[in-house]
Amino acid sequence: DHRLARISSSIRVIPDFPKPGIMFQDITTLLLDHKAFRDTIDIFVERYREKNISIVAGIEARGFIFGPPIALAIGAKFVPMRKPKKLPGEVISEEYALEYGTDKMEMHVGAVQPGDRALVIDDLIATGGTLCAAVRLIERAGAEVVECACVIELPELKGRERLGDRPVFVLVKG
Ligand code: IMP
Repeated sequence: DHRLARISSSIRVIPDFPKPGIMFQDITTLLLDHKAFRDTIDIFVERYREKNISIVAGIEARGFIFGPPIALAIGAKFVPMRKPKKLPGEVISEEYALEYGTDKMEMHVGAVQPGDRALVIDDLIATGGTLCAAVRLIERAGAEVVECACVIELPELKGRERLGDRPVFVLVKG
């Protein structure tokens, strides 16, 4: 796809953020490039338009940037997958491992229903732990995860393996 080169070069890499040794993939520069941002959304919309997706689940915080324009364009609901204690209603939660310690992800009860077909979206897949927690929440609600989608994959961290059978679609590799 001829659009991918511009998307890839619009992503800035910041060394040693948030700590020494990490090469942080920064999508805020992609958001500053109108064409790259438009193309990113278009590629996802083209892929998911005809797949009967009823839910786009976006992971806090950068899944909240890419998810809603996709949901609007394909006619799906948008469901935020949030950090603990942010959602006001009744939630279900899933713990997941971080490099040091654990974190939690929460989703509103009733937002996802049995029979829903979900696309899970985030900016980046590294170890896959974050996407996995989102997948577990959606599956606990009785819905099917059709695919996980990210702008960037760090393939060395083998995050895809954690997701088992659920397909992962990415635009660029970091
Ligand atoms: P994982 O759970 O190890 O796959 O890490 C993915 C999560 O960490 C996603 O929510 C990303 O937004 C975030 N993340 C990890 N590394 C980066 C990075 O280099 N840039 C932006 N986000 C990152």
